[in-house]
Amino acid sequence: MNTAANRDRPPAVNAVTQHRLPPLPYSFDALEPSIDARTMKLHHDVHHADYVGKLNTALTELPELQEASALWLLCNLSQIPRESRVAVHHNAGGHVNHSLFWQTMTPDSNEEPQGPLRDALHRTFGSVEAFKADFEAAGSRHFGSGWVWLVAPPESTGPLEIMTTAGHDNPTMKGLVPLLLNDVWEHAYYLRYENRRADYLKAWWTVVDWNEASRRLDDRDRALPP
Ligand code: MN
Repeated sequence: MNTAANRDRPPAVNAVTQHRLPPLPYSFDALEPSIDARTMKLHHDVHHADYVGKLNTALTELPELQEASALWLLCNLSQIPRESRVAVHHNAGGHVNHSLFWQTMTPDSNEEPQGPLRDALHRTFGSVEAFKADFEAAGSRHFGSGWVWLVAPPESTGPLEIMTTAGHDNPTMKGLVPLLLNDVWEHAYYLRYENRRADYLKAWWTVVDWNEASRRLDDRDRALPP
C-alpha cells in the first residue's frame, strides 16, 4: 500500500520538531453524561499529554526522526533504533490513537449512521444494532488495556471489520483504515463506570460522531491525523 504511513523515508510533519497535544474539539463536560468531565480532563490533559511528552523525550536521542509524523513512526517501528523502539511504539501509538479518538466523538451526535456507511454496516453486520452489539462484545471481551475498532479495507469496497488492539497499537499498522475507535483502557471509564466496561461501551454510542466515521470511509486517505 502506497500511503503516507508506509513511505521508506519519514515525511516531514512541519517545521516544528516537537509533537504537540491537540486541543480537545469540545469542552471537558461536553460529553456528559456518557463520559464525565473529570475523566475527560485527566484523559486529555494528563494521559494524552504524557504520551506526547514521552514521545518528544524519546526523540531527543533521534534527531533523524524528529520530523517524522507519529503515525509514520508507529508504522515503521523496524526503523527505530532498538533502545528507543519500545518508548516510541507506546507513546507514538498513544498520541495517534487519542488524537483520532477525540475526533471520533461529538456533543452533537446524530443518532444513526447515514448513507454509504450505513449501507456498509448493513452489508457486513446485518443491521446497525447488530454492529453495535458486536462492537460492544469485542470491547468487553478484550483482556487488559487496548482499543476496539471499526475498520475498512483500504481502497476497496470489501466488508468492514471489528477488531481490538493491545496497548496503543493501531490497525493502520496492518494496512487497515480506522473508522471508529473506543478506548478500553481503564483510565477511559473507571471514575464513572468502575469495573463496568460494558456499561461504558453501551453509553458511548450517544457521543459517536457518525459524520466523522462517514468522512473517513468516503475519503480513506484522510482517515488518520498527519
Ligand atoms: Mn486513553
